[in-house]
Amino acid sequence: MLEKSLQNHQKAFKKTLASYKPLFETEDIGRIISLAGPIAQAEGLAGVHAEELVRFADGTLGMVSSLNPKVAGVILLGSAENIRAGSEIRRLGRVVDICIGRELLGRVIDGTGVPLDTKGPLPDLERRPIEQPAPPIMRRAPVTAPLETGIKVIDGLIPIGKGQRELILGDRQTGKTAIALDTIVNQKDKNIICIYAAIGQRESSTAKVIHELNLHGAMEYTIVVVATGQDATGLQFITPYAATTIAEYFMEQGKDVLIVYDDLTRHARAYRELSLLLERSPGREAYPGDIFYIHSRLLERSTHLRPEYGNGSITALPVIETEAQNLAAYIPTNLISITDGQIYLSPDLFAKGFLPAVDVGKSVSRVGGKAQKAGFRDLVGQLRLSYSQFEELETFSRFASRLDAETTKNLERGKRLRELLRQDRFQGYRDFEQIIIMLALTEGLLDQVPMEKIRETEDMIRSQAANQLVELCREISKGRILTEKDKEKICHFIKDIPGLGQEAQAPAVKG
Ligand code: ATP
Ligand code: MG
Repeated sequence: MLEKSLQNHQKAFKKTLASYKPLFETEDIGRIISLAGPIAQAEGLAGVHAEELVRFADGTLGMVSSLNPKVAGVILLGSAENIRAGSEIRRLGRVVDICIGRELLGRVIDGTGVPLDTKGPLPDLERRPIEQPAPPIMRRAPVTAPLETGIKVIDGLIPIGKGQRELILGDRQTGKTAIALDTIVNQKDKNIICIYAAIGQRESSTAKVIHELNLHGAMEYTIVVVATGQDATGLQFITPYAATTIAEYFMEQGKDVLIVYDDLTRHARAYRELSLLLERSPGREAYPGDIFYIHSRLLERSTHLRPEYGNGSITALPVIETEAQNLAAYIPTNLISITDGQIYLSPDLFAKGFLPAVDVGKSVSRVGGKAQKAGFRDLVGQLRLSYSQFEELETFSRFASRLDAETTKNLERGKRLRELLRQDRFQGYRDFEQIIIMLALTEGLLDQVPMEKIRETEDMIRSQAANQLVELCREISKGRILTEKDKEKICHFIKDIPGLGQEAQAPAVKG
């Protein structure tokens, strides 16, 4: 009897204990001792972790960056306007994180997941730390599928594969953002999720990008993560990591993701500012010693996963700005060595109106060629080489008064190729259109077309190919290698185009 009552008591006691909530909860609260721009020094945060999230008295968030036994350096992730020395700072017990989920598609958010558009608050979403280890080697697969940008000069001569990291670099106002943006717009209906991370740009430029994405119906598969130049330096610093965490969420589900970092020069500058204020010793160009590491750890997260891990991929297009065409500066050389190739935009070509101003000689894609569709590889394999030869030839031909027939032919063909590589904005080309046009060139069908008519002719070929060669176009898109018969068929089709001009139908000069 006594035993039973004891047991009941024990049970009741356990139940009370389980439901017991203390009236007071302990919280780690520190105090700000100094504030210098985007960095606050706080004391009393014993036991705090690196990259832990803290909240200032006015609600602004901060990220703990440097740890000393007594004083912690905190990077502000918001405005310092209402932060005073001596005010409180609270530990939040978690590292800096971002929300993830399909609900983010079509939204514009900042690096902590706060929506910046007018579509209302986000639903309650899962959150993940913005810093994640890159996928281990054994989970990675080689780059095998092409990522079609729809831009002729890139798809033909500097092809990009899914899971590749291709740098876009050039001086200011050379069309870097235009290439990245056109690539996003051209992914429509290709089942690719795009993420545009705008880092440290003018608000007006970012607004223009968002407007253009909306205008071309690209927002439905795109997420924009923004920290403009006016935003807190800390926010600019975390933006690319946050954007990559969102990309990883989709990659893990087996999706193909395209992520644009526009641009990492400003990201590097933001980090330099933070590091100098945290009193870390400056190195080359006053950048801290770990600048290479912060970029490589970011870009290593982009990869192509093996089929047993879902076969997803993240293709990264980091953008950087060069000064006075200096590719050998610190940040450009770092990023050139981290990425799998670069697309260099030349201000000279831009000034001459050859847009997109891609300098083919200085651009390279180290892995994309293997992923190019068979039809393409077969056809344009020689094009890159002959294009560089043409550029050399053109320089020399200025001095030579008389040129032999072969040289003249190569020169004329090169000029036509350069003309064909010109492309207006938001005019994506499908793979078969590009292949048919390049075939017309290599088969010499355009040799007799006057230069000023080249683009008109190209438009004609393009508009009629899809209607007249339906079956063949579909096969090319599936990756079929063109047989001699296919080539003949295409040549016949081109020669029959009315208005191509009698002169264009002269016997083809086999290239
Ligand atoms: P910034 O250094 O300011 O970031 P950027 O290198 O990103 O500049 P963009 O803003 O992309 O350059 O382009 C500069 C201008 O060139 C824009 O007005 C853009 O519309 C124009 N432009 C770029 N590419 C083309 C093109 N293929 N056809 C026509 N105009 C183009
Ligand atoms: Mg730009």
